[in-house]
Amino acid sequence: MRVEEKILQAIKNYDTIMIHRHKRPDPDALGSQVGLAELLRNNFPNKKIYQVGGPVEGLEYLAQMDEIPDEWYQGALVIITDTANTPRISDERYLLGEKLIKIDHHPNDEPYGDLVWVNTKASSCSEMIADFWQIFSNELEMNGEAARLLYAGIVGDTGRFLYPATSAHTLKIAADLREYPFDATKLNRQLEQISLNVAQLSGFVYENLKVDANGAGQVILTQAVLQEIGVSDVDTSAIVSLPGMIEDVLAWAIFVEQPEGYYRVRMRSKGPVINELAKKYHGGGHPLASGANAKNMEEVQTLYQAIQDICKAHRLKK
Ligand code: AMP
Repeated sequence: MRVEEKILQAIKNYDTIMIHRHKRPDPDALGSQVGLAELLRNNFPNKKIYQVGGPVEGLEYLAQMDEIPDEWYQGALVIITDTANTPRISDERYLLGEKLIKIDHHPNDEPYGDLVWVNTKASSCSEMIADFWQIFSNELEMNGEAARLLYAGIVGDTGRFLYPATSAHTLKIAADLREYPFDATKLNRQLEQISLNVAQLSGFVYENLKVDANGAGQVILTQAVLQEIGVSDVDTSAIVSLPGMIEDVLAWAIFVEQPEGYYRVRMRSKGPVINELAKKYHGGGHPLASGANAKNMEEVQTLYQAIQDICKAHRLKK
């Protein structure tokens, strides 16, 4: 039996299903988590299906989380979407369930759970949930709300169908989802909309971007800068992709100082693989989009040096 069939079987076997995703959710985390929850609610109206996790941080227009007492996990099926490793799972109570399923599109560095469905070729975890629906289309019916969430996840993780993971299949799935009733114009606007402060943060990023001769870019956002502009760590998701628009930039890191003093590192690349480097700095992710942490300014510098080396090696190969 293929793993998708085992997952459907498990869903059928359990009355209570808890769906989690990663911390600091992005549209794909929420889209896959709540898109799956809505799809299952639509098709198994007698089951108790909950979406669990910490704050949705600026993505309230997508979904809210359910408040669940610990006892409800007893004998429950727990499904985690879009989360490569257990420390990143939002809400540790995922451990309280009876059976655990991992559904993800990141490299399978930590194959946790009783059932693991990982497809690194999928543009997004939301695309995988939409695949799940289509594989079992004779049993599962899509609706407007699930389609809206899955579409948001795909648009989010592909940068509006721009990033290399966007395949013909991705476009086909997105088109299929658009057949269902939801306001795509409104959703696209919500996904794209930025505050005036974030616009000013964009200005700072462009003005302070440092790029070396091989296309290695870096921007450092200190707490002082964030406070002066009036933005927080969450807002940096809107500016991570900006350096990539510049022709000369090949790979880059945005270092975001945290109130505790360490730096969250948001790394992106147009070619050189960066997730192996991210793993060396308490992080991970996709080959061209990764996250890591730097303890202090010294580590910020060594990490940027490593990106410079990677860009140089990449240029020399060509
Ligand atoms: P971000 O810059 O936070 O949007 O992260 C980009 C990619 O790297 C996402 O696919 C994340 O799942 C992954 N990622 C970010 N931070 C970490 C981390 N601390 N550990 C593992 N993967 C991470």
